[in-house]
Amino acid sequence: MQLSIAVLPGDGIGPDIVKEAQSVLERVAEKFSHRIECQQYDAGGAAIDKLGEPLPEKTLAGCRASDSILLGAVGGPQWDHLSGSDRPERALLGLRGALELYANLRPAVLYEPLREACPLQADIAAGGIDIMVVRELTGGIYFGDRGRRQGRYGEEAYDTEAYGEAEVERIARTAFDIARKRKKHVTSVDKANVLESSRLWRSVVVAVAGEYPDVTLEHMYVDNAAMQLVRDPSQFDVLVTTNMFGDILSDEASMITGSIGMLPSASLGKERLGMYEPIHGSAPDIAGQDKANPIATILSAAMMLRYSFGLAAEADAVEAAVSEVLQAGYRTGDIASAGTTLVGTRKMGQLICEAL
Ligand code: NAD
Repeated sequence: MQLSIAVLPGDGIGPDIVKEAQSVLERVAEKFSHRIECQQYDAGGAAIDKLGEPLPEKTLAGCRASDSILLGAVGGPQWDHLSGSDRPERALLGLRGALELYANLRPAVLYEPLREACPLQADIAAGGIDIMVVRELTGGIYFGDRGRRQGRYGEEAYDTEAYGEAEVERIARTAFDIARKRKKHVTSVDKANVLESSRLWRSVVVAVAGEYPDVTLEHMYVDNAAMQLVRDPSQFDVLVTTNMFGDILSDEASMITGSIGMLPSASLGKERLGMYEPIHGSAPDIAGQDKANPIATILSAAMMLRYSFGLAAEADAVEAAVSEVLQAGYRTGDIASAGTTLVGTRKMGQLICEAL
């Protein structure tokens, strides 16, 4: 298979971690006889410094022309003085909007060798954590009508949550399709006891569920979901929800697994185009020092193989290689503990390639 990938290293540790993920993809291509073609583009602060804008036209065109996008991270203190639309983060929002990447997938997995990093009590974590949060990414309150006006209490500000049937339908379908490849259980999170938009959300999810009789559907109010994630995370398989609820719950789900350096993500649009990136930022404090954990980016590359290219065996192989290296006791600084072997970014990438 021919894999055409736009690579956007970005800022801070971005170039360090993307380099390792690229090596892993090249190793996969070699092992499974695929042809991989990576084109590198500027994005974020690096693009501002070179070309005067966070998402240059050339980068956007290159991403559109590729099958998939691998992104490191953007941002850093040297660009903090810039105003909203000029900031490095605009590159992310610009790409999500321009490519209509409406489904954000954030797996939260507790790896057995990292069990002690889980902040939950041992008996709660004992059931294991393997949750896929599917967050709607291009609609809802972050994109709704907003403004200021005079009200009873002086000047007031408002933001509007609005969802259309087709918007809910496509994200629900994404969640059910993913559940079919997992434990076949979807929890749809809303606030249907209060919000009209949630009532529409729920009715559309129920309608879509009719097409997936092999998948069980459960509804949960968002306040209860926030509690259940720390009370008994093992009850969740696929959790699907709106943009704002997903923003909050995906961070909560991530944190209960321990380390930010381990967590990948995917943002999917129509067809197979997707953007894959770690959930952490550009970590300027450790940039270029061979200290960053590349695993979140390597696992993002595994998600790319699974979701953009449909290469499940290849994705499984990358995930298994990561587990093997952790099991053997190798750790970057962020996940190191007594009795483990400390390695740098490059060595961690090399060990995972060798395990493959
Ligand atoms: P951050 O995620 O960059 O760093 C938080 C802490 O976690 C730091 O101590 C950092 O060293 C550590 N860390 C993060 N990733 C790591 C890794 N792979 N290995 C080891 N340690 C790691 O968050 P921040 O400090 O709040 O933000 C730094 C910059 O990143 C800011 O400019 C912010 O706007 C940007 N940011 C970008 C993205 C993105 O590109 N998607 C996301 C969040 C923040």
